Amino acid sequence: MSENPKHALPSYLDPKHLGPWGIYLEQVERVTPYLGKLAKWVETLKRPKRALIVDVPVELDDGTIAHFEGYRVQHNTSRGPGKGGVRFHQDVTLSEVMALSAWMSVKSAAVNLPFGGAKGGVRIDPHNYSRAELERITRRYTSEIGVIIGPNKDIPAPDVNTNAQTMAWMMDTYSMNEGATATGVVTGKPISLGGSLGRVEATGRGVFVVGCEAARDAGITIEGARVVIQGFGNVGGTAARLFHDAGAKVIAVLDHTGGVHNAGGLEIPSLQAYAQEHDGVAGAPHADAICAADFWALETELLIPAALEGQINEDNAGSIRAKVVIEGANGPTTPEADDILTSKGTVIVPDVLANAGGVTVSYFEWVQDFSSFFWTEAEINHRLEAIMWAAYASVAQVAREHKVSLRTAAFITACTRILEAREVRGLYP
Ligand code: NAD
Repeated sequence: MSENPKHALPSYLDPKHLGPWGIYLEQVERVTPYLGKLAKWVETLKRPKRALIVDVPVELDDGTIAHFEGYRVQHNTSRGPGKGGVRFHQDVTLSEVMALSAWMSVKSAAVNLPFGGAKGGVRIDPHNYSRAELERITRRYTSEIGVIIGPNKDIPAPDVNTNAQTMAWMMDTYSMNEGATATGVVTGKPISLGGSLGRVEATGRGVFVVGCEAARDAGITIEGARVVIQGFGNVGGTAARLFHDAGAKVIAVLDHTGGVHNAGGLEIPSLQAYAQEHDGVAGAPHADAICAADFWALETELLIPAALEGQINEDNAGSIRAKVVIEGANGPTTPEADDILTSKGTVIVPDVLANAGGVTVSYFEWVQDFSSFFWTEAEINHRLEAIMWAAYASVAQVAREHKVSLRTAAFITACTRILEAREVRGLYP
């Protein structure tokens, strides 16, 4: 039996479709020739298993009623429950949530976590609403998607503009509706509510761990290596500190306020204190200001985009002189820029591998919640390193075997695992 894509083709399968889902479909096309006999199941990857659009009506503080559009998409659950964050942003679309849910399937499988992929979102600019309004929006959204989420079904987490408090409201709402406290329904919770030690730093730590592996394979010694980082928040800030502590020279940082450069290496702990106080790095002492164009063109061993998607694109890829790019952000490199960098011999450690430290410690949080037994931060970091090392090693091995990029290798590794599960489970009925 093989799947026939010609029957009832949904609109989102249109290969000309633009946007994030189109990029994801293109990535699946690129990996299909490497899937061997499993390719007969590949249509599974091109359709979300389940996509829910919900209306979120809320009474605002002034007594008026507002309606927001919310989504929860479960892309694939062949290997385990859905897993993925919830984004509050005015530009959230179904296409974006679908793509992000699919990339979560790939990420979970690439690092071999027993999860599928899911994602959620609400089309809202949360900066325009009070804390009380955001609590009501979060609770109503949680109630609406409550029919498909659960500790064994689909486990949300924070993403852009949501945080540990959002997760606490989601966990409480779900638990109230179920009539039982269910800490395992979300991850990224406050420590007081079953959150995990080490979760805040996990993504940046994972970037550091796989970054060191990729550097070694590229013949780069971390001690004294130059590092350039875009984004100095949770991911970029943590990665900067870990590379700094390991003896690397972080020579430039760019955030939403501007860029700073010091060829001798920035003093990261004091830059973090400065950025905290001034809401960004612009104007920091002991550094020169640097514009974005000059920032991207810096000669460096390691470049870490850890801010937003699409930051490395056709406009700046040609000027990039990094030996290794480690994708801390989700989707920071456009497919066009990917081709430009790859043709120059730049190694790119893809997001689905490089930033998987966050979902890995979310997995630890979920396991700890289930067993009601909590690990020390040292245990968490040790287990995180072991998973990231193993994931990098198996992806790098596939890349060598097939002579493909680490991104294609990560997709081959992940899609093979997902489709093996799909095949062995079989179709019901
Ligand atoms: P954050 O909000 O803590 O930090 C974002 C950083 O990006 C800030 O320093 C901000 O100044 C900078 N930035 C924003 N706009 C910019 C611009 N136009 N130019 C330059 N810099 C800009 O966010 P984060 O949690 O560090 O997430 C960063 C990226 O990593 C996102 O793509 C996110 O999806 C991804 N990611 C995060 C996690 C996690 O656990 N936090 C996990 C996986 C992936």
